[in-house]
Amino acid sequence: MAAAGWAPPRLPGFILTERLGTGTYATVYKAYRKTDTREVVAIKCVSKRSLNRASVENLLTEIEILKTIRHPHIVELKDFQWDSDHIYLIMEFCAGGDLSRFIRMRRILPEKVARIFLQQLACALKFLHDHNISHLDLKPQNILLSTPENPQLKLADFGFAQYMSPWDEKHVLRGSPLYMAPEMVCCQQYDARVDLWSVGVILYEALFGRPPFASRSFAELEEKIRSDRAIELPSRPLLSLECRDLLGQLLERDPLKRISFEGFFAHPFVDMEHVPSAESLCKATDLVVEAVKKDQEGDASAALSLYCKALEYFVPALYYESDARRKEAIRAKVGQYISRAEELKALVTSSSKSLLQQGNPARELLREMAKDKPRLCAALDVASAAIAKPQPGPGDSCRRRKAKMTMTP
Ligand code: ADP
Ligand code: MG
Repeated sequence: MAAAGWAPPRLPGFILTERLGTGTYATVYKAYRKTDTREVVAIKCVSKRSLNRASVENLLTEIEILKTIRHPHIVELKDFQWDSDHIYLIMEFCAGGDLSRFIRMRRILPEKVARIFLQQLACALKFLHDHNISHLDLKPQNILLSTPENPQLKLADFGFAQYMSPWDEKHVLRGSPLYMAPEMVCCQQYDARVDLWSVGVILYEALFGRPPFASRSFAELEEKIRSDRAIELPSRPLLSLECRDLLGQLLERDPLKRISFEGFFAHPFVDMEHVPSAESLCKATDLVVEAVKKDQEGDASAALSLYCKALEYFVPALYYESDARRKEAIRAKVGQYISRAEELKALVTSSSKSLLQQGNPARELLREMAKDKPRLCAALDVASAAIAKPQPGPGDSCRRRKAKMTMTP
């Protein structure tokens, strides 16, 4: 049973068809289950010869663990088989291709789109981190997209890297050093923090169209990897300060100074709390209920704050909803909440002005509120942009107008 070569290998229970891709260690084929449902899957054929460090038995135990992992942003491993030469991983099929192709076709991604992908990647990494699993081979080729339209990111090819050192017995580097942390290439000593460097490279490539160490020759590449100069971010395209800050902290050569996993998950640009998910709508609705209550009680400032917090969840909820009719219903509701929030904003602003003029003791309270105002206004503005036109998702063209992120108070 040969996995390499031009003809797809034969595997009991499946019909293997076209080759989907070839990576560092394996060839992946599209396949159908020989059942009535004809379920489409992707089958990854790994040559046992490419395994080192650990025995095949250990790897098979590891695969058993991976089989139990279920996460919306991780490619599902459905089953596996093996013969004398190969291990066959039967996986969820991702029809949207990989992130590398997605970026290449668009040259660069708008910050808003790159952020949605980053948030989905962060969710997958948080889940793996909580299960003590490192990826160690993060790169756009290992990040798949569920569908061509409205794609969801799916992290692939993890859990193996620890059995497959990037260095072979002859100390030859396998895989692409463009995405590997400098300590992995230079010192051959590394830990989970290399994944954060790679996230920085992926985000950099998505925003600027090429990885930071892109070079014309191997000598230039080696010089860039070994250098101790800080990674410079191109001045164009213009990016938010939060985005640039995160890039700088991820692309820190010294792993000890690099942002930690906790720091990454809590970073405002990642903003995991507002990642589009099934819970976004529930959280938004709960907050609206509170807002309406405060509004009825005549507490305009509390109601405004709650409406704005709700809108921060409605935006990802709109993005997450795939059913067109339900999406339209949410959009209509959000329009009403925005109108009410705008009215409350005018009310609170005028009363705050008169209170400030009177030197009222409520001054401190209003000052506190004013501090939060840019965030509230941004929430209102983003929500208005979200309902004004179809949600900008990763499937959208780069030419689409970016939603305005700020609004003058
Ligand atoms: P390797 O371990 O050899 O790097 P990968 O798992 O990264 O192998 O797969 C190689 C390529 O095959 C990927 O870059 C992608 O283009 C394609 N591929 C892998 N898994 C799938 C899948 N589940 N659905 C669709 N395409 C896939
Ligand atoms: Mg790969």
